[in-house]
Amino acid sequence: AASGSNKIKNAKLVLLGDAGTGKSSLVLRYVKGQFVEFQESTIGAAFFSQAVAVNDETVKFEIWDTAGQERYHSLAPMYYRGAAAAVIVYDITNLIPLIIIQATFARAKKWVQELQAQGSPNTIMALAGNKADLLEARQVSAQEAETYANENGLFYMETSAKTAINVTDIFYETAKRLIQAQ
Ligand code: GDP
Repeated sequence: AASGSNKIKNAKLVLLGDAGTGKSSLVLRYVKGQFVEFQESTIGAAFFSQAVAVNDETVKFEIWDTAGQERYHSLAPMYYRGAAAAVIVYDITNLIPLIIIQATFARAKKWVQELQAQGSPNTIMALAGNKADLLEARQVSAQEAETYANENGLFYMETSAKTAINVTDIFYETAKRLIQAQ
């Protein structure tokens, strides 16, 4: 109705995934529309806020960008507990670390397992195959990631913080699913 049916829903969203997969870059692209080639490492976690309108509702994301390094692992539950949504990020090229193929994808799967075991059952989970601009260096096929996501209750998108492919989309889709689930 014209009298303002707009409902605002606050939603805690956490980004999880290996250091170097592009979590901070995705948030920077999403919130500020920027990309920097040498993004400084996040220490502990960083907080951002972003509102997204879905039809006549507004989801106000409270985004927690976690560090990803193993030494901060014990902090992770503080961020994913009570989270309405989790975006789990891997790097489709898996260039980091250089030798271990599929390392960041394997790590993403570990995060999914941890969330399924210790997170909230209602958390919407998105799987982001980031650095989708580096197709020639791809190590994880879209098919493999898609199958994994379907089998484990996530939705999957390939993103690029560099070119902005699917960045707004993955947050929008998350917001849409949050509203549908309530
Ligand atoms: P985080 O540790 O997961 O937060 O990763 P960062 O956001 O710090 O990114 C790690 C490195 O990957 C930085 O040098 C970024 O510039 C680069 N990077 C992040 N996203 C992309 C992307 O989509 N494409 C390309 N080519 N590089 C990216």
